[in-house]
Amino acid sequence: MMILHNVVFGTANDHPREDQERVIQEYLGALFHAGQACGEYFFTWIDGRLNAHILLAGHNARARRYHSKWGKEALREVVRVFGQEPVWRVIDDDAPKRNTTWRGAPFLFLATDAFDWDSPVCRGDTGRAIPLYTLPIDFLQKEFLYFWQGAYRDHDNLWFGCGALEIPVYKQLALPDSELSQQGRDFCKHIEAATGVETYYYLMRYWGRRKGDEKRRCPGCGGAWSRPVTEGDSFRFFDFPFMCKKCRLVSHAASCNDDERYAHIGEYRSAKRKRTRR
Ligand SMILES: [Zn+2]
Repeated sequence: MMILHNVVFGTANDHPREDQERVIQEYLGALFHAGQACGEYFFTWIDGRLNAHILLAGHNARARRYHSKWGKEALREVVRVFGQEPVWRVIDDDAPKRNTTWRGAPFLFLATDAFDWDSPVCRGDTGRAIPLYTLPIDFLQKEFLYFWQGAYRDHDNLWFGCGALEIPVYKQLALPDSELSQQGRDFCKHIEAATGVETYYYLMRYWGRRKGDEKRRCPGCGGAWSRPVTEGDSFRFFDFPFMCKKCRLVSHAASCNDDERYAHIGEYRSAKRKRTRR
């Protein structure tokens, strides 16, 4: 869910332009860190007034109750400099009136990619993103999650680029115990503890084996994790054919089985083999 807004900050003739810009950058930055804003923003001077265009992560995202302490302070500074509260306007005809909630979901999952600017926390039954700012976790967690998503995006972009770092970044994305995955899985634990809803980490799998890949074992515990999925006419991301309840991992079938050199990445390995192969 991303809703484009226009924000008018007004005029602050007593302050140099750079100061005005700094104050709003602080404020908008705080909205990103709390999960209230997503994607990118830009600002322009129109008729001597500072204007910003920004994507908010959900309905009512700019409400004061969703601000962090830092966000409230930054807003106070905006009001001090501009002499008024920012004036927000929705510029999206189809802006939703209601947010997707974690309540009542059969499970949640954490997944994102290079092109995803929406919240990485989604419902398991509809795949819809749940605005981060509505999750009952503390602001520090929201901020870490914001940075984690940025790091995941950077890894995914490097992987797409197929350059010198293609395989190291793929390992970060596909191994259950890489630093990136481990951080994501820790967030899943926090979200599950806060919501009481099982929260799974999505593990990417690109390279697979020509035979038997659908029977591969859970890379976390070595147990069985493939499950029947009723495939409809259209593929739905959240119909995960692999799910391990014990490890809280979900995954897809490999996208490519033409090159088995890398199929071992993300496969279960016993502790002994782990020591020898890494
Ligand atoms: Zn497992």
